[in-house]
Amino acid sequence: MNYDLKSMTTGELEALFVSLGHQKFLGKTVFSFIHAHGASGIDRLSTLSKSLRAELCEQGFFISRLVTVEVFKDPDGTNKYLFELADGNRIETVELTDENERRTLCISTQVGCRMGCAFCATGRLHFTRNLTAGEIAGQVLEVEKASGEKIGNVVYMGMGEPFDNYDETLKSVRILNDPAGRNIGARHITISTSGIIPGIEKLASEDLQVRLAISLHSARDEARQKIMGVGRKYPLEALIDAVRDYQAKTRRRVTFEYVMIKGINDASLDARAIVRLIRGIKANINLIEYNPHEGCDFAPSDRKTIKVFGGILTAEGFEVAIRYKRGQQIKAACGQLGTGWLKTN
Ligand code: SAH
Ligand code: SF4
Repeated sequence: MNYDLKSMTTGELEALFVSLGHQKFLGKTVFSFIHAHGASGIDRLSTLSKSLRAELCEQGFFISRLVTVEVFKDPDGTNKYLFELADGNRIETVELTDENERRTLCISTQVGCRMGCAFCATGRLHFTRNLTAGEIAGQVLEVEKASGEKIGNVVYMGMGEPFDNYDETLKSVRILNDPAGRNIGARHITISTSGIIPGIEKLASEDLQVRLAISLHSARDEARQKIMGVGRKYPLEALIDAVRDYQAKTRRRVTFEYVMIKGINDASLDARAIVRLIRGIKANINLIEYNPHEGCDFAPSDRKTIKVFGGILTAEGFEVAIRYKRGQQIKAACGQLGTGWLKTN
């Protein structure tokens, strides 16, 4: 059992207090204290009697905290937080602000990642462990506390593969979405996966309106499997079938992410392969300029190539957005997290 009160949903906290012989409503009170008012220790739960607080501590319960080691600020407005977990492991979280001052937080779900994608710095790190729901949701709480600003959107696109840590990821979504806590609308939460089919299938049956993003990066199995090992386990046809089923069930638009890497996946035939593969799916396609990092020989596609590629997709009726590099000076861009301070494999 995880004794971290921050990792528990309202329902779990209610069950906990009932099991300890106390009233059920305390569950919601404690949940609000932690997630809406930022209580950082059991001693701060001032609505509980002293003896109940002592009882919780005696039984081993605690409220986890992320310690901010450093905040890196890029001149383009992107901030990167380096957090230390209770066991000394470290993770990164990126805060992006758009032209309307809306804040999006890109959060991590694991220390490192098992998927090992060839273009991703996190994928080259030693996988250490899954984050708990409290550590995942805690990234939002800590950044809000530090900046004094509310986060409007949360994207699960930091370090790690969310569906390789499905249960804690989903629990963190429920925690962030709970009106008694941060109350972030599920439509403002996006989970990105490298294509773990069982996760997509499970998400389709959850009672949550979260958005799903699929990291596609190539619509041709041979090319995809060269850059994404996970593609060998979950080939494209099966992956796209799962996405079609997800959309049939949920009626929600899906986003495909596509990192544009020079000479690897950026030819016109690659764009036409996407069109054939996802025809009929209501989709947004994000073309992400590849972010270079040390130890990886890939180069970003030319901007003209990205435009031509996007044009082919737009002509077929897909909504296409091009994402140029951000947060370069502080290594905060997609795929750069963890560089410089974690062991590589
Ligand atoms: N593991 C999940 C979520 C985290 S990665 C996933 O792979 O979907 C978030 C996004 O950044 C993914 O689309 C990923 O493919 C992309 N990415 C990884 N390395 C990148 C790089 N070097 N340049 C640009 N995007 C990259
Ligand atoms: Fe992991 Fe995503 Fe990076 Fe692939 S792109 S190694 S799945 S974090």
